[in-house]
Amino acid sequence: SGRLEISSVSKSYEVADNKTFDALVGATFSVEPGSFVSLVGPSGCGKSTLLRLIIGLDDDYRGDILLNGQRISGTSLSRGIVFQDHRLLPWLTLKQNIGLALQNIGWSREEKEKTVREHIALVGLNGFEDAYPYQLSGGMAQRAAIARGLVSRPEILLLDEPLGALDALTRLRLQEEIQRIWRVEGVTMILVTHDVEEAIYLSNKVIVMNTNPGRVVDEIRIDLDFPRD
Ligand code: ADP
Ligand code: ADP
Repeated sequence: SGRLEISSVSKSYEVADNKTFDALVGATFSVEPGSFVSLVGPSGCGKSTLLRLIIGLDDDYRGDILLNGQRISGTSLSRGIVFQDHRLLPWLTLKQNIGLALQNIGWSREEKEKTVREHIALVGLNGFEDAYPYQLSGGMAQRAAIARGLVSRPEILLLDEPLGALDALTRLRLQEEIQRIWRVEGVTMILVTHDVEEAIYLSNKVIVMNTNPGRVVDEIRIDLDFPRD
């Protein structure tokens, strides 16, 4: 598990008439191994842009994103991603959807099956192994997406507004779940949310961003509960 350094990272998009638009300006913060960091800020402040850079989907930026001192590129960071919409494949069962994340990993069939079973249990979906996505509630589908994100045992789990589409009660339940999973798995988590309360409740560190242009305007450390036992 590695330390992630985001150092003076800026990103401009080309817009009409050879003009550029600064979506992210000088973002600087670190993500300690095993910690839980949230990025909060209003719509348009550059959260998704920053996440795409961290994921390695876009390497056209200024500054440095370093994992253990090495510049991140393409696939160097082992990561799982959970989106606002579960993105499960509708023609595959829960077990198959989660198993798909292991297809390029050189584990034995038994190892893969065992890991899939363990991760279904981890998110509380025992008994739903052979269910199709349409048979799951919204909360259950997001649990499945979390299991899929973790099944390959990534260094970092990125959560992009994972609870944004859920009703208030399901959202509260899944906040509890995410915190429990973070504790038992010891995985580094980066959460993007526009819900400040959610960020403060779940994180060790909250990176507050603002628009015009996209800047980090505050960094709040929440040390009460960290390091974990
Ligand atoms: P957030 O995720 O915080 O809502 P984004 O990272 O999606 O913010 O967007 C930041 C800013 O960059 C917004 O003003 C958005 O309109 C702009 N933007 C995002 N992607 C592009 C793009 N491909 N081309 C031009 N502008 C973009
Ligand atoms: P949560 O956010 O806790 O997953 P849900 O509303 O998704 O909340 O579901 C609560 C519980 O109700 C689930 O854990 C599951 O046991 C049960 N449940 C929900 N939808 C279904 C369903 N379609 N079939 C069977 N059980 C369900």
